Amino acid sequence: MGLEVVSGEEMYHLAERLYPICRSITGNGVRETLNILQEIVPLELHEVPTGTSIFDWTVPKEWNIRDAYVRNMQGEKLIAFDRCNLHVVNYSTPISATVSLQELKAHTHTLPDHPQWIPYRTSYYKEDWGFCMSHDQLQSLPDGDYQVSIDASLENGSLTYGECLLPGDTADEILISTHVCHPSLANDNLSGVAVAAFLARHLRQCNRRYSYRFLFIPGTIGSIAWLALNEPITGSIRHGVVLSGVGDRGSITYKRSRRGNAEVDRAFHHVLDARGGQVIEFHPYGYDERQFCSPGFDLPVGCMMRTPFGQYPEYHTSADNLSFISRESLQDSFIVCTEVLSVIEDNRVYVNQNPKCEPQLGRRGLYRSVGGETHSRETEMALLWVLNLSDGTQSLLDIAERSGCRFRSIRDAAERLIECGLLAAA
Ligand code: ZN
Repeated sequence: MGLEVVSGEEMYHLAERLYPICRSITGNGVRETLNILQEIVPLELHEVPTGTSIFDWTVPKEWNIRDAYVRNMQGEKLIAFDRCNLHVVNYSTPISATVSLQELKAHTHTLPDHPQWIPYRTSYYKEDWGFCMSHDQLQSLPDGDYQVSIDASLENGSLTYGECLLPGDTADEILISTHVCHPSLANDNLSGVAVAAFLARHLRQCNRRYSYRFLFIPGTIGSIAWLALNEPITGSIRHGVVLSGVGDRGSITYKRSRRGNAEVDRAFHHVLDARGGQVIEFHPYGYDERQFCSPGFDLPVGCMMRTPFGQYPEYHTSADNLSFISRESLQDSFIVCTEVLSVIEDNRVYVNQNPKCEPQLGRRGLYRSVGGETHSRETEMALLWVLNLSDGTQSLLDIAERSGCRFRSIRDAAERLIECGLLAAA
């Protein structure tokens, strides 16, 4: 795969554009988001009707919101949806009423530990109305009555998701999935959306051995819906990664698939070992890898993050805003993805064509032919490892792991050996 430079600026700009939209697990916010992504990726939009049975779940009613506010009796708007969409509990039922401060408090969420931040709360599977505001603001409200209004609808409709398949030389697939159901939150989930969209655009221009399937889906219910409706396709998924929280300033974290040692897990480990970042074990909590790695599917799908969710206080609050993510982190996350994908793309098995004793490398111009002592040492060792271990059973990644050489050196060595006929595809 060629390395086209996608700038962090482009990804950041996309996040900026998507930030104001009030997304949820269903509704027009997701459609509007996917329509914008269609300018970058040839996404196909799918609509799954409310009431559709998907394994143990049912596609919920569609939620749409037009406006919401809390006013004091002087008519002054204390909080307004059009200023910050986190003020309304996502999936809140409609209401228009005058309520006491006590009742307002019973329906309002705050963060006493971070009294200036507004929390992000949802009520997907329990019909209720609610607001979110800063703790300081709630504390400052005097006793009395308040007018509350949420102009929303919760009706039969559909769940929307976007999908893009980039066919490769083989029908074997690499799945890249990200959730698109959060309102104005930047790291979780716009960073993942931005990196996935630009990865798709990048991969469209590359030669691809694998086919790539990109999913832009509402979290949990979206991956369950996709798996329920596409079960036969899952047999073609050879590798996969869920992208989420890839824009903050922390270093990369990769969470292994349920299998623990799938090729994608090893590729991430190899790349992060060299450039820094942590690899953590699988656990059945987190993002959509939970569904892809449920035992009935057990797909080789891990999750790439920067700081793990829940380990930064800004998570699911108004502080996860555009200043919480950086252009540099988005670009770095993009580059890690391309490095891992290039390991997977090039990880093949070869056979040494001259296995009885070492071939004469000097005669073929392969030995001590490259200037620069350390470089030539690594280059020579890579040649020797590839020749020795290429017995038709061990892949280039196996060889890189065992030798301690970088995958790139091993792959370059294999290419040179192929050129001079000492190596052939298994
Ligand atoms: Zn989230």
